[in-house]
Amino acid sequence: MPRATLARIHPGNLRHNFRLAKERAAPARAMAVVKADGYGHGIERVARTLSDDTDYYAVACLEEAMALRAAGLIQPVLLMQGVHEAKDLQLCESENFTVVVHDPHQLGWLEAGYGRPEVWLKVNTGMNRLGFAPAGLARVKEELSRIGVRVTGAMTHFACADDAQSQATARQTEVFGQATAELGDITRSVANSAAHFRAGQPLFDRTRPGIMLYGSSPMLGRYGPELGLKAVMTLESRLIATRELTPGDAVGYGETWRATRPTRMGMVCIGYGDGYPRHAVHGTPVWIRGTRVPLIGRVSMDMLAVDLGEVPEAAVGDAVELWGEHIPVDEVAACAGTISYELLTGVTRRVPRVEDGASTTLHTGSDS
Ligand SMILES: *Cc1c(COP(=O)(O)O)cnc(C)c1O
Repeated sequence: MPRATLARIHPGNLRHNFRLAKERAAPARAMAVVKADGYGHGIERVARTLSDDTDYYAVACLEEAMALRAAGLIQPVLLMQGVHEAKDLQLCESENFTVVVHDPHQLGWLEAGYGRPEVWLKVNTGMNRLGFAPAGLARVKEELSRIGVRVTGAMTHFACADDAQSQATARQTEVFGQATAELGDITRSVANSAAHFRAGQPLFDRTRPGIMLYGSSPMLGRYGPELGLKAVMTLESRLIATRELTPGDAVGYGETWRATRPTRMGMVCIGYGDGYPRHAVHGTPVWIRGTRVPLIGRVSMDMLAVDLGEVPEAAVGDAVELWGEHIPVDEVAACAGTISYELLTGVTRRVPRVEDGASTTLHTGSDS
């Protein structure tokens, strides 16, 4: 008999969000970014759900690209970090994976003839993480052409696109435009999710939306629904105990929260062992019986406490939403000093992912 803690996945909302990305990207085309296990939603489920809508996927690494092939998906896949070993180039060529080349050591592997996949060049326009200097780009492309490797694209990544006030994105865009102007007929790609929401932002040929597909806001200080996005994950659990506290009673490890008046509290069957952030502060909202109630005390590994003052009728067995349609994951992230990306990708294996409409009776496979 499993506990009722689960991540409910809404495929219809995922499709809605990707279509919104495509609309905002047009006339550029979008590719679905499904790295990190589909931002914690399950890479195969996510990729299959979007299969009719996308003609290209993007992932971080080869293992993720192979997971898409194992799921029967045939679209090209962009490996945004390229390969980590020379011998992987052959597999990329035969599987139609487009390999990002960001560093001279990867050029060396191509020159040594390990394989000839399609290549996109990464340009460092100011984030200073990965990529070739803008001035060196044409020479790299020529060198690859000389040895018979097809360079079909160039990309860069923005450091501050989430910040509507920052000038960095405009600077990076200009550097990218100049660096790629002479590269001929290639696909040019700059845009993460946030770039889709920046007025006047050039999106070039291909965009790479990730977080927005999952319903979370890519813009600082905004929540997904304000931007027309719908939550794709609802993190759910239940109340497993209630208790009356008298003034002075503390709750949880470290006794960091203490009742100042008679308080009815409840215990929810989810904790940091499930990926709920331990750093969520007192007052982080939780949804019970159509009402927001505040988290109190420290989050434990397997449970957390809430103040039920606003929902006197709440009882053991009540459903609890930790984030989803009513509590934006962005809001929980802000309360925990982090970002939605970390929360969504951090939901642990202990939490079953269950699709909308699927039975909530969970099977562990060993309960025969
Ligand atoms: C993850 C990633 C993206 C998607 O970013 P979001 O902010 O999730 O939209 C785009 N491009 C690159 C290179 C990435 O690594």
